[in-house]
Amino acid sequence: MLNKNLLSFGGIIFGLGIGIGAWLTSAQDEVSEAYSQAMGAIGFSTAEAQEGTQAKDNLPLGRSATSIADGQYPASYFPNTEALGADEMRITALGTGMPNQTKAAVSISYLVELGNGEKFLFDMGLGSMGNLFSLRPDFSKLDKVFVSHLHIDHVGDFMGLHIGGWLSGRYTPIHIYGPTGATPELGTKAFVEGMKAGYAWDLQTRTGALPDKGAQIVVEEFDYRQENEVVYQENGVTIRSWPAIHSLDGSVSYSLEWNGLKYVFGGDTYPNKWYIEFAKNADIA
Ligand SMILES: [Zn+2]
Repeated sequence: MLNKNLLSFGGIIFGLGIGIGAWLTSAQDEVSEAYSQAMGAIGFSTAEAQEGTQAKDNLPLGRSATSIADGQYPASYFPNTEALGADEMRITALGTGMPNQTKAAVSISYLVELGNGEKFLFDMGLGSMGNLFSLRPDFSKLDKVFVSHLHIDHVGDFMGLHIGGWLSGRYTPIHIYGPTGATPELGTKAFVEGMKAGYAWDLQTRTGALPDKGAQIVVEEFDYRQENEVVYQENGVTIRSWPAIHSLDGSVSYSLEWNGLKYVFGGDTYPNKWYIEFAKNADIA
């Protein structure tokens, strides 16, 4: 059972390569179902927790996502079998591991899907894009990623997201939101420019073969020192950042708010005064 109070405090989530999803409904204002799905070599297994809803034993059939009626969620969740309700938020852990990843424990990335059709990525650690692509999402919607800091287990799949997403239907620029560092060369902008220079040959080969706009990267670098300031606000979605305490300066945590729901992504951080204040009232953190 996911306990909202525990989740609201929001420690760092360390995992062993499992995917975790949670649906949050504003009607219930609580986590109504959680699931875990082992990925990679294990294949899959599921576990579920419910609060205020009746589990159904029946398992979904076929490949078409079906709508959930009257909060009657199946006892087990399988990716892409449930249509997201208009007022729901679905959070999927694509990876929760360290830089020394294994097939069953790839590095950090979280996918947040909203009932209005929008999708957001938080970090893109090594190996995590394989799990994203396995979900077969609509890549035309996957054009925003929010970077907590520049450790490889949080940004190591940058190239995979950029090129793989372009190949998979994102024909508009990808937007990378991330913090400054203590000096310009330690910031998100410098990271992106350095990476792009590294695969210039690859980019050159695809120019003209795919819609050009998909190649573009828009970096939205913001001051890592800002405290709960807005870094994104569109279509009723507000994302804010505040400093995280982790290694060098230039590490942040985020909150995403939409439809009365609040998701907090800590990145890597020790508990700190900002987190205690700004992660308050989160539905999941
Ligand atoms: Zn880190």
